[in-house]
Amino acid sequence: MVANGDMLLAWAKDAAYLEKGECGGAVTAILKNALETGLVDAVFAVEKGYDIYDAKPAFITNPEDIERLSGSLHCGTLLMPKLIKKFLDGAKNMKLAVTLKGCDAKALYELAKRQQINLDNIYTIGLNCGGSISPVAGRKMIEEKFGVSPDDVVKEEIDKGQFIIVTKDGEHKGIKIDELEEEGYGRRANCQRCKTKVPRQCDIACGNWGVPADKAGKATFIEVCSDKGAELINKVSGGIETAPTDPKFVAIRAKIEQAMYKLADKAREEQFAAMGEGQDRLSFIMKETSRCIKCYQCIENCPICYCVECSTKKPYLVTPGQVPPPFMFHMIRYVHVSDSCVNCGQCEELCAMDIPNALYMHALQVEMQEMFGYEPGVNLDLPVLALVEEPTERKRLSDTGDDQIFNIFN
Ligand code: FAD
Ligand code: SF4
Ligand code: SF4
Ligand code: SF4
Ligand code: SF4
Repeated sequence: MVANGDMLLAWAKDAAYLEKGECGGAVTAILKNALETGLVDAVFAVEKGYDIYDAKPAFITNPEDIERLSGSLHCGTLLMPKLIKKFLDGAKNMKLAVTLKGCDAKALYELAKRQQINLDNIYTIGLNCGGSISPVAGRKMIEEKFGVSPDDVVKEEIDKGQFIIVTKDGEHKGIKIDELEEEGYGRRANCQRCKTKVPRQCDIACGNWGVPADKAGKATFIEVCSDKGAELINKVSGGIETAPTDPKFVAIRAKIEQAMYKLADKAREEQFAAMGEGQDRLSFIMKETSRCIKCYQCIENCPICYCVECSTKKPYLVTPGQVPPPFMFHMIRYVHVSDSCVNCGQCEELCAMDIPNALYMHALQVEMQEMFGYEPGVNLDLPVLALVEEPTERKRLSDTGDDQIFNIFN
């Protein structure tokens, strides 16, 4: 029996999953068995869309359909929790198994503490994450740096510090991520700054770090991070083979994680410094945001922005019909979101005007964490300050004359 805190190697018993899976197909097998045993009503994960650069969400209730999920999509920029809130009623009435990168896992917690998602109904299958690559930037990089047509690539992966592509003719090409990033290619800017590499806030965390060379690509390393995670593994044991981990490889995994933190610290330092400090930083942000066309993508896709009535649409706060909008439009988001920003990058990735919104928000979040000690997305602790305008809260404000909402979730 597996227990909370255990670490193990796992792979699928089913030969097709073993072959098609990214690292032995354990996750696919776990998802299938969770459905078959009735542990969950549905699986919500990610599948290949039009091509390998296109990740699309998949909602699956028939175990036979699970196979199409196999494999990791590194150009997928989906944020699963916002979709769970928007389209699956926050899992309020169904049991789900969900695959999550670190930023997904953090967003899930932030939405759960805002009572927008029922965490009790979700089995969270975390995926270690060295980073993802924007689909447009990924295609450009493959064309310019690898000298290969992006349409000829059938598989991409990140391994041993390299971005590797496999073409339809079976050719493998890899270039060091450091080298790519020095030249402005590589992982998304927020991924370069990310320090959530093994998502231990999930029930289990799965990845290839710590898998011995003879099992590379054929097994995944699972860290069991909760009692629910142990329950999940025990329940689905019919679908997976397991083996104990070797302390030597556990140490190697820890070393890689530390190396990734160091890289992220360096990226933070460089990217934050490039914005200047104090008044210079403000001027830089005001200049960049002055090309905003008020498309609302940053709000629509931010996991912290869940409000029924957004303050940016109040005429007394933001003058309507003005494009670019007054700076107040952006200020409202900085005030409401920055303490809880999970650095998912969605507000930047999906911005119609390529405004580096996530950079400003993340820089603010890091400073607020230093000041108040609040780290978003790691547990169910409440944020420092939340200012929202939900109907009941507005009534309270007007009844009391108050204008600030502190820890409304209490
Ligand atoms: P499979 O059986 O192949 O199942 C993979 C599951 O992941 C499927 O259910 C699929 O729906 C889901 N999935 C695929 N892409 C995404 C996505 N973008 N977002 C959410 N779910 C997705 N492990 C490391 O140890 N180090 C890393 O640096 C690392 N980087 C990763 C980066 C990304 C973007 C992703 C998605 C995964 C990364 N992993 C990393 C995890 C690793 O690639 C495997 O997913 C893990 O080892 C499980 O292997 P498996 O064969 O059991 O999974
Ligand atoms: Fe992965 Fe972190 Fe980037 Fe999210 S922000 S995709 S967890 S590296
Ligand atoms: Fe993600 Fe941007 Fe919202 Fe931060 S502000 S949580 S980076 S969408
Ligand atoms: Fe986001 Fe604030 Fe609007 Fe709510 S009111 S959706 S937190 S900007
Ligand atoms: Fe403005 Fe970009 Fe937000 Fe659209 S996504 S409203 S352009 S900052």
